[in-house]
Amino acid sequence: MPKVTLTEYECRNDLLPMVCLKCGAIANTTVRRQFSWYPSWVIWLAFLGLMIALVAGVIMTKRMVIESPMCDRHQGHWANRKLWTWLALGFLAVLLIVGIELYSEAHQQQDKDFFATLIWGGGATLLVAWLAFALVLRIGMIKPKIITSQTITLLNIHPEFVRALKQERERDAEAERQSRARRPANKGRNRPSSKNRKNER
Ligand SMILES: [Zn+2]
Repeated sequence: MPKVTLTEYECRNDLLPMVCLKCGAIANTTVRRQFSWYPSWVIWLAFLGLMIALVAGVIMTKRMVIESPMCDRHQGHWANRKLWTWLALGFLAVLLIVGIELYSEAHQQQDKDFFATLIWGGGATLLVAWLAFALVLRIGMIKPKIITSQTITLLNIHPEFVRALKQERERDAEAERQSRARRPANKGRNRPSSKNRKNER
C-alpha cells in the first residue's frame, strides 16, 4: 500500500480530500486521530538504561492530529484494533486468574505442580501469541512512518486518496497562480492565501 506525506498546514486546516484513507471510497466522516512517532534508535537506548530511553522517547516523540477522512465501514479502523488488542489481553488475564484459582484449590502436590507448569508454560505461550496478534493487527494499520515539525508520512494509504490529494494540490496551485496573475504588479506583496499549501511546506 502506498504512503502519503501531508503537511502540518494541510492537516491543521482540514485540506484533505474527502476520500477514505483505507479503501479510497467517498468518505462520509472524519475521525480525529492523534498520531505519534519517535525515531527507532530511541529503543536501542534501552541498552544504556531504561530511564535514558524513556526520557529520550518523551523528548523525541512528535505528534500530529489529523481529521482523517473515512467511509462508514472504516471509521472504526483504529478503535476496533485497539478494542481487539485489549479484549485479547483481558481474555489472557482471565485465563491466568482461572489457572491461579485452580492451583490454590488443588489439594495434592502432584496437582499443584501440574497447574504451576500450566500457568507458567501456558502463560508465556499465550503472552507471545498475544504479542504476535497485536503485531498482526498493526500490519495493515494506517500509521506514521515519520513525523517532523512540518510533515507527517503515513503508511498503508489507499492509492485513490493519494491521487485525490495530488489533484487537490494541483487545483490549489493553479488557483494560486491565477490569483497572482490577476493581482496588480505594483502590489506585489505576498499575501498568504488560505489555500496555499506551498508557502508553508
Ligand atoms: Zn473505507
